[in-house]
Amino acid sequence: MFRPSARTNGLALSQIVRISEAAARMRLEGHDVLALSTGEPDLPTPDPVCAAATRAMTEGRTRYTPTVGTPDLRRAIAATAGFPAEPAKVIVSTGAKQVLANIFLATLDEGCEVILPTPCWSSYTDMMALAGGRAVEVCCGPQQGFKITPAQLDAAITPRTRWVLLNSPSNPTGALYGADELAALAEVLRHHPQVWIASDEIYAQLSYVPFTSFRTVAPDLADRTIIVSGVSKAYSMTGWRIGWGIGPLPLIDAMVAVQGQVTSGACSIAQAAAVEALVGDQTHLTQRLAIFRDRRDRVLAALAAIPGIDCPAPDGAFYVFPDCRGLLGRSAPDGTRIDTDNDLCDWLLVSAGLALVPGSAFGLPGHLRLSYAYSDADLADGCARLARAAAALTPLPHSAL
Ligand code: PLP
Repeated sequence: MFRPSARTNGLALSQIVRISEAAARMRLEGHDVLALSTGEPDLPTPDPVCAAATRAMTEGRTRYTPTVGTPDLRRAIAATAGFPAEPAKVIVSTGAKQVLANIFLATLDEGCEVILPTPCWSSYTDMMALAGGRAVEVCCGPQQGFKITPAQLDAAITPRTRWVLLNSPSNPTGALYGADELAALAEVLRHHPQVWIASDEIYAQLSYVPFTSFRTVAPDLADRTIIVSGVSKAYSMTGWRIGWGIGPLPLIDAMVAVQGQVTSGACSIAQAAAVEALVGDQTHLTQRLAIFRDRRDRVLAALAAIPGIDCPAPDGAFYVFPDCRGLLGRSAPDGTRIDTDNDLCDWLLVSAGLALVPGSAFGLPGHLRLSYAYSDADLADGCARLARAAAALTPLPHSAL
C-alpha cells in the first residue's frame, strides 16, 4: 500500500492549478471556457532572449552549471539589482519558487514560525509546511490596503519567529508597499534580531507607482535580508524556470547545499537567456508595463459597473482582487446556493464558462482573483461573462437564509 510521508500530509494541488486544470478539461470536452485564473503573461518571451538561448545551444553551453548559478548570470543579477549587490551573494535557482523552497528547507526546524501577511500566494504556506515550519498568517484586509502594519508585525513576533515574508507587488492583490511603509516595518524588525526578512519582489518591474525594494530602505538589515526575484513575470519567461535570491553569504551557502541535493544548477540554456533578458534592451519593459496598466484600467472600469463587486485599484503585478461579498447569499437560476467565494467560482465555471480563483485560496474569503495577463478580447469577454452571471443571481428568500 502506498504510504505518503508525514511531511506531505495535507499537501495537495494548489487551488489555482486545480481550477486551471478543471477549465482545461471542460474545454477539451467542447465547452466554451475562458480562464482568467493563471499568473502567466500572454505576451511572448522577447526575441533577443530566445536568440541568446539558441546561441547557447549551438555554442555547446549545454552542460552542468555551478550549483549556485553561472558567473555571467550572477554578475548580471547583481549589476541590475537596483541596490549595491555582490555576485558572490547571488544564488540562481529553477524559478523563484525554488529560491523560496531553498530558504525554508535551509533554515526552518520543526515548529519555526514564518509571519505571512495574508492574503498571499498560496504556495508560501505549503512550501514552509513541507520544510517543517508554521505559517503565522496575519490578516491584512482591504481596509489596510492588503498590507501588514508595523503594529501587526510587532504583535505577531514570538521567540519562534524565524522569518517575515513580504511580497510587493503582491500576488493576489497587486498591493505595493511604499518606501515609508517598508521603513516602518524595518524599524520594528531592528528590535527583533532573530527575525530574518524574505522579500519576494518578482513583480517589481510591473509597478504602476514607484517601486521600492526592502533592501534599499534597510541596508543595515542586509545581513538578515534576502531579496527574491526572477525573470518569469516581467520578461514572460515562466517556462524557462529562472529565479534568484540575493542575500547574506551564510544563507546563500546553506541554500546552495540544499539545491545541490535536489536539482543542482539551473538549466544552462535558460541561464544564458536570462543574462540577455537582464542586460539586453529593456525598452520592451516600458511597453509591457503600459499594456498591463491599460488592461488593469479597462478591467477596473468593467468591474465597477457590476453591482455586488467592489474592486480597489492595485498598484502593481497583473491581478485585481475584488470583494465579491455583495454577490453571496444569493441563488442561481438553477437553484444553486451561492454562499461563499468557492461556491461563486464553481458556479461561474459551470454556468458562465469563466475560471477565476476564490480569495479563500489566498487566505481571504469573500474575494476573487482575476488575472489580467490576458488579451484585451479575453478580458472584455471575461468581464461580460461575470456581469451576466452576477445579474442572474437573486437574493435568497428569507426562509432559505
Ligand atoms: N512569487 C510569487 C509572488 C508568485 O506569484 C510566483 C508565481 O506565480 C512566484 C514567486 C514563482 O515564480 P517562478 O515562476 O519564477 O517560480
